[in-house]
Amino acid sequence: MIELNGVTKLYKSVIGVNEICLALPRGAHGLLGPNGSGKSTLINLITGQLRPTIGRVQVFGQRPWNNRGVLRRIGLCPEQDVLYPNVTGLEWVSYLLELYGFGRSEARRRAEEALERVGLAPAMHRKVGEYSRGMRQRAKLAQAIAHEPELLILDEPFNGLDPVGRHALTELLREWVHLGRSVLLASHILYEVEAITH
Ligand code: ADP
Ligand code: MG
Repeated sequence: MIELNGVTKLYKSVIGVNEICLALPRGAHGLLGPNGSGKSTLINLITGQLRPTIGRVQVFGQRPWNNRGVLRRIGLCPEQDVLYPNVTGLEWVSYLLELYGFGRSEARRRAEEALERVGLAPAMHRKVGEYSRGMRQRAKLAQAIAHEPELLILDEPFNGLDPVGRHALTELLREWVHLGRSVLLASHILYEVEAITH
């Protein structure tokens, strides 16, 4: 599913990741390492947000960089907040689905369903700028799953979630994997990683 051959990413003279060789089959995988060890860099390479300085990254047998066909099959819950404060959660997720090519009513239907799945249904008509940190985290998760990707990639998704939210996310991801879809998860919450991945 994911294959990296001799992948190095440099940020000018700073090493993001160094000579990574990795082959991951479909399934659930945890990405563990201390702060600054390159987890986000690796995720951004795999999801086509970054291009390797050296080496080759392949997802589903193709390079993800600037590759719409591959990127459609991936859902990304990024580390940073990338939400627009002046739109509602529903408008935001619907808009991203329209960018994927879904028609307006289908995008809205899928957005509602995804927001419900992450427990944001009561807040989906409120402005994202009014959301708490945990609610923003849930909104990011909703946009990552709304197009039903085969591979869901999450960068520290438990950040900002209360214990109930962490439990709900763990259950959602376990079910996701149980339905035969794949997950790559970067997290420091080792207990949850252990519960979700092999
Ligand atoms: P992690 O997600 O495991 O905390 P990162 O991938 O964010 O690690 O960082 C790996 C290394 O790359 C760190 O030394 C970090 O300072 C550096 N780095 C990450 N992003 C940038 C950037 N945009 N510009 C310069 N250096 C960066
Ligand atoms: Mg990181």
